[in-house]
Amino acid sequence: MTTLTDELKASTTARSWIDEVGDTPLLRLDRINRDVPHVKLYAKAEWANPGGSVKARPALAMIEEGERSGALTSGQTILDASSGNTGIALAMVGAAKGYPVTICLPANADAVCRRTLSAYGADIVLTDPMEASDGAIKQAQDLYDRHPDRYFYPNQYDNPANWRAHYRTTAAEIWRQTDGRVTHFVSGLGTSGTFVGTGRRLRELNPTVGLISVQPDGPLHGLEGLKHMPTAIVPGIYDETLADANLEISTEEAYAVVKRLAREEGILSGFSSGANLAGALRVAHEVDNGVIVTVFCDGGQRYLEAPIWTDGAELE
Ligand code: PMP
Repeated sequence: MTTLTDELKASTTARSWIDEVGDTPLLRLDRINRDVPHVKLYAKAEWANPGGSVKARPALAMIEEGERSGALTSGQTILDASSGNTGIALAMVGAAKGYPVTICLPANADAVCRRTLSAYGADIVLTDPMEASDGAIKQAQDLYDRHPDRYFYPNQYDNPANWRAHYRTTAAEIWRQTDGRVTHFVSGLGTSGTFVGTGRRLRELNPTVGLISVQPDGPLHGLEGLKHMPTAIVPGIYDETLADANLEISTEEAYAVVKRLAREEGILSGFSSGANLAGALRVAHEVDNGVIVTVFCDGGQRYLEAPIWTDGAELE
């Protein structure tokens, strides 16, 4: 027998919040690219995801894979290390699904990130700022090793559900949104999930697609979310054979592009988005024609306390 609740469920078009993960807009960037008009430049606006970043995709995928495999059961706490967006995304999905969340993060992570985690109800374990994100990873691993029954540890650096989320969703969206015309994909490396998952699928769809990874130019940088692979703990899911080229972007270059993006396109992005766009602009200057797609990992609101916005901004 159909109940009134069933009928209401069937007739409503409302969706649950986490159903809104993915299907982000593809933005056309014509003004910042005007000196190379023969090249089309696009970016995925990942701040449109619940939680405000690209990490909603792998966070949801890792949690749902845990539920499917039985590794995550009700009553367990979701535990991970994160310099920011993954923690926020896990806290958001955990709250939406009713799991407690504990996040290890370096003590110098920005205050807005910490407050955001608390707002979603997550517990925070602060780790040695000198060890950066590697210190947070060690702490999460240690907590999990001591209490394996208490925690579900998705471990985004080694979890194939991370890159598969992008293989299944980000790549499929880019393919559809460009009518299969994408010629180059440019993306930064953090866990490498975005680059590896999207790149693998795009290459299957078009074996000649160019895959270009982006990294900071040294271990000390201001590009939150990105890793300098030669000096970091290399993520288990990273596949260094995938990229046709790897571009090193300085913090200054990324910051300058973030500023240009705000002033020339009216788009306020985070700094890793600036690094990605700096990489995409370099590629645009090297090719005769093409359709280049990059990723805007998160928006700029979270970073408004950064020196590039606070130092002398009022003087300009
Ligand atoms: N930019 C930002 C702002 C991020 O939070 C992340 C995730 N660490 C990345 C880029 C890199 O993405 P991925 O982990 O998929 O390599």
